[in-house]
Amino acid sequence: MNFIDLHGHHGAYVGFPMPRSSTPEMIREMDRHQIATLVLSPHRALIEPGSNGATAEILREASGRFLAYWVVHPHGEGRFEREIAAFEAARALGFVGFKFHSSLHQYPLDGPRFEPWWTYADAHRLLVLAHTWGGDTRCGLENCRRVAEKWPNVRFVLGHSGYHEHEAFARLAGAHEHLYLDTCAVGCLDGAIEAMVRIAGSEKVVFGTDLPWFDPGYLMGAVKYSGIREEDRMNILRENAEKILAPLR
Ligand SMILES: [Zn+2]
Repeated sequence: MNFIDLHGHHGAYVGFPMPRSSTPEMIREMDRHQIATLVLSPHRALIEPGSNGATAEILREASGRFLAYWVVHPHGEGRFEREIAAFEAARALGFVGFKFHSSLHQYPLDGPRFEPWWTYADAHRLLVLAHTWGGDTRCGLENCRRVAEKWPNVRFVLGHSGYHEHEAFARLAGAHEHLYLDTCAVGCLDGAIEAMVRIAGSEKVVFGTDLPWFDPGYLMGAVKYSGIREEDRMNILRENAEKILAPLR
């Protein structure tokens, strides 16, 4: 089975032990759970502005098993013009879109500094993963709604599906053609996967694990034993992500 995980990270994290976070260790975890491809944003790129270039080395090391998000940092003037040229130059190495973390970077997902990035992603139909969380005023439901309405061509994955507000996020995903929920962390809430499938449809849910934060086995089990149909399981574990990635690889 060639499953696809659209939500991963890589490497050490400040102040938090992160076992099995090197490239060979992560690939071993993926093999155990039949995950063929992982799309990731390394911790270094999330924490240190201007370090997306170092992700290229990780992509090379993984020989095709990883694809990557270019992490967009909100702080720094004129960054878009400089960075988009670097993104375009690196794209063929395996960058398929952008990652936003509005909670970590303390800047709203729909804020003006991100606008050129969303506009670019919309024009190029890129994949974007954003950390989302119910009740957070920077990456909550209303921020996501404004982005989905303004840039409808972005293949926009709602990381964690708003967690405890996953039913409201599922209604939003169901209303926008290219808006997706992911299973990352939220899948471990009893009944969340069934609710997302019931409300948005299994075509709107993608598999995400947060590897190496968690063993992918827990989320794989949550999907497999959620009580949804086999066809829905395969949409989540592979089919939807395959369709999103096919034009971007
Ligand atoms: Zn994550």
